[in-house]
Amino acid sequence: MPPTPAARRGALRSNRLMQIKTLAQRWWRRCACAAAAALALSACANEPAAVAGQAPHHRDSGFQNNYVEFSTPGLAAFMRWKFQAWRDGLPAPPASKTPAIVPDLGLIQTNAKAGVRMVPTVTWIGHATVLVQLGGLNVLTDPIFSNRASPLSFIGPERAQKPGLWLHELPHIDLVLISHNHYDHLDDDSVRALAKQAGGPPLFVVPLGLKAWFAKRDIARVVELDWWQSHRLGDVEIVLTPVQHWSGRSLTDRMDTLWGGFALFAPDLHLFFAGDTGYSKDFADIRERFAERHSAAQGGGFDIALLPIGGYEPRWFMQRQHVNPEEAVRIHRDLGAKASLGIHWGTFGLTDESLDEPPRQLAQARRSQAVADSAFFTLAIGQTRRLAPRRPRS
Ligand code: ZN
Ligand code: ZN
Repeated sequence: MPPTPAARRGALRSNRLMQIKTLAQRWWRRCACAAAAALALSACANEPAAVAGQAPHHRDSGFQNNYVEFSTPGLAAFMRWKFQAWRDGLPAPPASKTPAIVPDLGLIQTNAKAGVRMVPTVTWIGHATVLVQLGGLNVLTDPIFSNRASPLSFIGPERAQKPGLWLHELPHIDLVLISHNHYDHLDDDSVRALAKQAGGPPLFVVPLGLKAWFAKRDIARVVELDWWQSHRLGDVEIVLTPVQHWSGRSLTDRMDTLWGGFALFAPDLHLFFAGDTGYSKDFADIRERFAERHSAAQGGGFDIALLPIGGYEPRWFMQRQHVNPEEAVRIHRDLGAKASLGIHWGTFGLTDESLDEPPRQLAQARRSQAVADSAFFTLAIGQTRRLAPRRPRS
């Protein structure tokens, strides 16, 4: 029996519906395939060329960060930054000079002679250079006493303030921490001078790959560490931690040597020194890693963190490598530090913010994140801050 017109219309409709459904399914499959292919491709592009049996930050091409696939911005980006800075007249000259005071050499030297009975102190010498006295040791972070942060003595970023202490005013330095090899953190003349100090060279603790740089200068008292490796000097344990940055002293050695922060554990003080860093989850990881020795019974978290607060503008260029004060306060909170000292500002004009802007931004960040003024402070160049010795609950 031939189908009725109504049945034919119904069959036609369901046929069309089937066709539409099939087309939709094909289209969806094609989209899904394309998406999968794109994902696979992007995974390939971002897939770390990890070295078999090594940690993921060890790559065939050098080292890499934990939470960002960092490649240094190319020449075009650099030129764009420099053009915009020139066009906008940046950095604006500071309204006031970076505060500087005459150092309390009496306190520093008496403290140095007291050995393990010393009062823990931090003295800001300028930029990322801090004299730390803890656990009976005199420690310097990223020492730079030169007039310029540059491979050349006559060109490059010049000091806005002289160092808080001159090399000859320092007590005998036991330990030097180098966070990475950028010129404002690894200064040839300063390292050579410290290696020749009276009483013998300090111990230089450096990230992987930097020992060769010291060997070329006949400096042998060097310990190289990978992330999370440690070394003990006297009563002080030194641990290199991950941070988010990069390395390079020329166009051909990018990421060839490692970078990092340092955790120092002394009976009287636990200190963290970040070197240079962008904001990342690394700081929550650091807190978790040391949670046991930072329990309330052990005396709580880091007594002091030395965190960078300068070198952050323009954000589109700097964000992945240098935190701004707002991010530095977040790091302070991520670490669970009892107090932080803002460093890496006011000394060398490396970026687009005014030399005197970081402390103002820091004050704003403290307010917006409800952090007390005394919990994240800055010092004048040359100023010493005594710190309360750590007391584990007995
Ligand atoms: Zn750097
Ligand atoms: Zn730096």
